[in-house]
Amino acid sequence: MTIKEALKQGGKALQNGKEARILLSHHLGIDSLQLILKENEVLKNPDDYFGLIRRAQADEPIEYITQSASFYARDFFIQKGALIPRPETEILVDKVVQLAQTLHKPTIAEIGVGSGIISCLIALLVDDVSITATDISQEAILVAKINAKRFGVEDKITFIHTPYLIDIQEKFDIIVSNPPYIADDAKVENNLSYEPDIALFGGQVGDEVLKNIIDIAAYHDNCYLCCEMGYDQKEPLSKYFKTKGLGEADFYKDLAGFDRGFTLTIGENNRK
Ligand code: GLN
Repeated sequence: MTIKEALKQGGKALQNGKEARILLSHHLGIDSLQLILKENEVLKNPDDYFGLIRRAQADEPIEYITQSASFYARDFFIQKGALIPRPETEILVDKVVQLAQTLHKPTIAEIGVGSGIISCLIALLVDDVSITATDISQEAILVAKINAKRFGVEDKITFIHTPYLIDIQEKFDIIVSNPPYIADDAKVENNLSYEPDIALFGGQVGDEVLKNIIDIAAYHDNCYLCCEMGYDQKEPLSKYFKTKGLGEADFYKDLAGFDRGFTLTIGENNRK
C-alpha cells in the first residue's frame, strides 16, 4: 500500500482527512509537505498506522495519540493525565501577561498547572517573572516540567505538588487558574473521557473549586486573581464576590462570545 492509499483509507475510516494526515505524519516522523512528496512510496508499517487510526476512531483525542498540542502558536508536549490545552485559554494568558507587564519583578502563582501551558507562556512573555505552579496531580506536574524544559523556562517556574496553594507561605502579585469548572453530572462529549476528571469536573454545581480559589486569593489579599470559568458562571460568581465584599470583577468572553473568565483586583494592590 502506498502512502497515498493509506491516507485515503485512514481518512475514510475517520471521516476526517486532516486527522488521518496528522496521524500519518506523526507515524512517519515527517511533516505534511514531505508527506505529499512521498505519497507514491510504499508505507512500510501499515499495521502501526492503522492502529493509530483505530485509537482515533475510539474517540481518543488526536493530541494524546501524537503527544503534541498546539497552543499560542507553539507545540507543547501532552500525554494522558494532563488536560489538553483549549484555544480559549490563550485569552487567560493574555490577561495575565498584560497585568504582569505593569508590575516590577512580578510573582505569580498558578493553581492547577496541568500541562504547563499558562506558566510556560507567562515565563516566556514576561521579563523577570517568578512563578510558583501547583497541581494536585503528579502526572500533570511531570508533563508541565517537560514543557518548561522544552521552552527553556525551568529556572522561572517552581513546581509544587499540592492542592491549591496549601503549605505555601509566599504572597503573590497575581494568582491565575484554569480550574476544573464543569458540573460533575454534566453530559459531556465522549472524547473528554480520556482526560483527567480532576482537571474537568469542579463539583456538584461546577463552580466549587473556583469559589475555593477565590477564598484563597482573598486570604492572600493585595493581588490580582485571573481565572477561566464556565459559560454560565458569571452570575453565581458575581454574587459570590459581592457576598465576600470583593467588589466587581472584569469578566471576559471567549471568541465564540461565551462568558469565559474574569480578572479580579483584591485589596489595594499597592505593594509595588
Ligand atoms: N473548557 C474545557 C471544556 O469545556 C474545560 C476546561 C476546564 O474545566 N478547565 O472542555
